[in-house]
Amino acid sequence: MGLDQTTPESLSPRGPGAGGTPRFLTRRQALACGAVGLANIAMGTEANSWLRDLLGLGSSAAAPAEIFKGDAPSDEVFALWQRRGWVHEGSHYLKLDRNVQCKVCPNNCILAPGDRSHCRNKINRDGTLYTLAYANPCTFHVDPVEKKPLFHFLPGSLTFSLATSGCVFRCLNCQNWEISQKKPEETKDPHGSALCFRPPLPAALTATDLRRLSLFPDDIAAVATALRCPSVAYTYSEPTAYYEYTFDSCRAARTRGVRNIIVTCGSIEERPLRELAPFVDAAHVDLKGFSEDTYRQLNSGKLEPILRTLKIYHELGVWFEVINLIVPTYTDDLDGIRRMCGWLVDNLGPDRPLHFSRFHPQHKLDHLPPTPVETLLKARDLARAAGLRYVYIGNVPGLAGAGNTSCPTCHRTVIERDIFSVTRLDLNAGKCRHCHTAIAGVWS
Ligand code: SF4
Repeated sequence: MGLDQTTPESLSPRGPGAGGTPRFLTRRQALACGAVGLANIAMGTEANSWLRDLLGLGSSAAAPAEIFKGDAPSDEVFALWQRRGWVHEGSHYLKLDRNVQCKVCPNNCILAPGDRSHCRNKINRDGTLYTLAYANPCTFHVDPVEKKPLFHFLPGSLTFSLATSGCVFRCLNCQNWEISQKKPEETKDPHGSALCFRPPLPAALTATDLRRLSLFPDDIAAVATALRCPSVAYTYSEPTAYYEYTFDSCRAARTRGVRNIIVTCGSIEERPLRELAPFVDAAHVDLKGFSEDTYRQLNSGKLEPILRTLKIYHELGVWFEVINLIVPTYTDDLDGIRRMCGWLVDNLGPDRPLHFSRFHPQHKLDHLPPTPVETLLKARDLARAAGLRYVYIGNVPGLAGAGNTSCPTCHRTVIERDIFSVTRLDLNAGKCRHCHTAIAGVWS
């Protein structure tokens, strides 16, 4: 999933979890023990496999797709979902006799009849691939665009943000696992009378309403406009996991003059990305680390497709910003951060905004401490030294200047932010008001 900036207040650290793994033994500490020392550490099976990975004894390939055998809904449930318009044939897939192979993301799930995909949203029904995550968002909100975070795209505007269930990744630190690691049937309920979300909008919605509510692609732009949002953000979980809904919604919104924002982990195959990109006005791409090992261990994914996605957005001229969450012991190696910044400058140029974000304990990493602010400051120094002009630090309320944009020529602040609020805007038609240098971004 893509990562929205989250204030610490909205997180719920759960404290040390149960189980036999020493809670505060970091990967670096384990390495320091050496191979002999490791034999003396009492750890469970899961921890042993973790150590095997750590020592490079496991495979460097991404984990295989997790297929939920025989988990497709019954005929009765499927018919109910179809009547609601929540079922749609998948795009970008191969028929392999009665099996199907989805080609939307690098998981490339192969499903036999009756199976459910890794992202939990797709099923093989009688040799056809269907998505169950269509027109049925499980959550939506009106957010400042700065919360995505996007700092160089329509600053100070609101964005209508929505998500369905499901994700192509299994991030240990997922902040939205309650929806990203669920199947559509766990977040939506087709029983009861139909309820379509479209203007005139209801004064209020209950949780029960939300479970049965439909939001069709043709209605999204009207809803966003009614809520004074010039854009729609496909976010919270992972828009690639609900690709067909994302694509149809982006296309419909574009024809109605509403912009589209994709908040993504970037793990998508080239064809569907190139098909979607012409309808994308801005993207936020999580670059979760800079090694295949990190992606395998932390996210159950692969790095190479993410780098390809970044290069394709750059090639196609789509505005996008990069976020890197610094997770203690996983992605806080300063040499790795230096190499990542070098790659960004070499491949995407110095004007690509980079947001370092502070990790807070959550999901399966609730035993780790928050990222030290010192580490974030060092990372910012490295990024600037590499040549990046717009580097931010997120999730650290009160850190002076962390979210401000400075002119790369005269170094004066041109956008001042207080967390997600724009408190001063010294831009004139996208140029620094002081020295008239053009600031990279989409400003109107
Ligand atoms: S989008 Fe879902 S079904 Fe398709 S390959 Fe990726 S995980 Fe599998």
